[in-house]
Amino acid sequence: MTIKTEIDNAIGNVISETAFIGGKYVKEFEKNFATLYGVKHCISCANGTDSLYIIMKMLGIGIGDEVITSANSWISSSETITQTGAKPVFVDIHPTFYSMDESLLESLITDKTKAVIAVHLQGQMCNIEVIKSICDKHNITLIEDCAQAHFSEFNGKLAGTFGLAGSFSFYPSKNLGAYGDAGCIITSDDVFAEKCRMYANHGSLKKHQHQIEGINSRLDGLQAAILNVKLPYILNWIDRRIYNATLYNEKLKGIKEIKIPEIRNNTKHTFHLYVIQVEKRDELKEYLQKKGVETAIHYPKALPNLEVYQYLNNKRHNFNVSSQIEDKILSLPLYAELKEVEIEYVANCIRTFYN
Ligand SMILES: *Cc1c(COP(=O)(O)O)cnc(C)c1O
Repeated sequence: MTIKTEIDNAIGNVISETAFIGGKYVKEFEKNFATLYGVKHCISCANGTDSLYIIMKMLGIGIGDEVITSANSWISSSETITQTGAKPVFVDIHPTFYSMDESLLESLITDKTKAVIAVHLQGQMCNIEVIKSICDKHNITLIEDCAQAHFSEFNGKLAGTFGLAGSFSFYPSKNLGAYGDAGCIITSDDVFAEKCRMYANHGSLKKHQHQIEGINSRLDGLQAAILNVKLPYILNWIDRRIYNATLYNEKLKGIKEIKIPEIRNNTKHTFHLYVIQVEKRDELKEYLQKKGVETAIHYPKALPNLEVYQYLNNKRHNFNVSSQIEDKILSLPLYAELKEVEIEYVANCIRTFYN
């Protein structure tokens, strides 16, 4: 691995300076990340789940409120809504792009709706301009869950910069990954930024001065130092992912049993995941496993179909698209270092399976 020496040095420095929590590496990362995003503030925290929770808590969201999010996401997008005391309201996904179907959003808004969490899934942004205009019209706060969309763009504007705040995860497998749990919030609202920073650190900006009670959700120095090493490479790594995705597209062309991912016009899809829809998904998955190809399913069940949300009495037919893809989607291996011969091998295995 090319950055091994840099990472080893960064870790060594944190240890010799005992800069474990907060401190200069954390500050440096926050500054670098905010600069790359062209926003005023980056507030680091312990993980991407906490960043969503902190944002909603600092918006005053709680019991009696509703927050709308996508039916197809990782559970963080909805469990954090419940954690605040509010009710998660799910919206079905777009038939082509896997993220929230913006045409269904307005019908779900009630006088209890306080926020919308737009999840930019797989590296592909939602139709964020339409979602934002709906939020603005109804005076609802827009939050962007960018855990899978570092540096994705919509009409040249970065994911996380459309709403009040963007939430990021640096879980190791994300496009920008730490060596453990890590996350952050970006915003250009000074007052909101200060609130989030305070809440994430026991409700205090200065030691022993607590205006509110908060939580302990801090980025540790080791993770920050590692992220600082990785940050200058991220745009290149994303380019590699995009290139590898186009290779998959080419090599999978013409297999009629599969549907390859489509990219929205005027957007930059950063391919956190390369998801295809296939017939006989489970058989194919098993076949690929035998051939040494590790695949995954993101996600096997739409959120409203999970056991935990049965109490909401959601009807499966209200989430037709999300429900129908459950048995079809398959995430193929995709990362920056993947080689063309490896992509060709995966594609050939799939072709052989259907022949
Ligand atoms: C990974 C992820 C999160 C949560 O991030 P953690 O750092 O694992 O807490 C939230 N939302 C989405 C869409 C994710 O993929």
